[in-house]
Amino acid sequence: MRFDILTLFPELTDTVLSTSITGRAQKAGAIEVFSHQIRDWSEDKHRRVDDTPCGGGKGMVMAAPPLTRAMEAVCSMGDMSNALRIYMSPKGKLLTQKTASRLASYDRLIILCGHYEGVDERVIELCVDEQISIGDYVLTGGELPACVLVDSVARLCPGVLADDSCFEIESLSDGLLEYPQYTRPIEFRGLKVPDVLLSGNHAEIEKWRRRESLELTRKLRPDLL
Ligand code: SAM
Repeated sequence: MRFDILTLFPELTDTVLSTSITGRAQKAGAIEVFSHQIRDWSEDKHRRVDDTPCGGGKGMVMAAPPLTRAMEAVCSMGDMSNALRIYMSPKGKLLTQKTASRLASYDRLIILCGHYEGVDERVIELCVDEQISIGDYVLTGGELPACVLVDSVARLCPGVLADDSCFEIESLSDGLLEYPQYTRPIEFRGLKVPDVLLSGNHAEIEKWRRRESLELTRKLRPDLL
């Protein structure tokens, strides 16, 4: 899976995604991540890519010409036969585990990060297939949302997690929250690991985990049921 991120802060996305599991996955060749500096497609001598909003108002808007050139150039750097162009935006569809699974079926995601007041609407019309939000709040830029999206999709790609079945049994994969997890020591500050998990009886352990999973979802996220 190839990810291309268009941003004003490639050092931010590179730093986050070259750390831990996504970093190891890149080294192992399970995923490829390329962060592109949008200013490289500015024709302004100061490398500006923003301008004041038409109609007035506060803030700056990222302009259509450099962004469109950047999107088109980055798209032409690789195969587009099974690719999706995404704009990270608080106006987008909410990123869920289901969305991440759907996005993992593409071979390539091209992700545009906005900044300031966002991007000229024509960029979305001309160069974007889908807008995705990571939550109903507004951040200063699309870089952290892009990293969240890449992380959630990458871990569903073959070879990224140590055991590809890890994500099949965790929170939200089947619409429920995951059961509680424990590791050694068996007793800690008077709290014991439930006996059933030490019993070696796998059928009973499965039953307990299912029950706990339902109970936890009912308690913490009843909206999922
Ligand atoms: N003026 C815009 C609005 O009201 O919709 C918000 C712009 S925001 C300050 C700057 C950039 O951050 C956006 O262009 C987008 O790329 C990113 N962003 C902010 N919140 C986001 C969210 N919840 N999900 C995804 N991207 C977000």
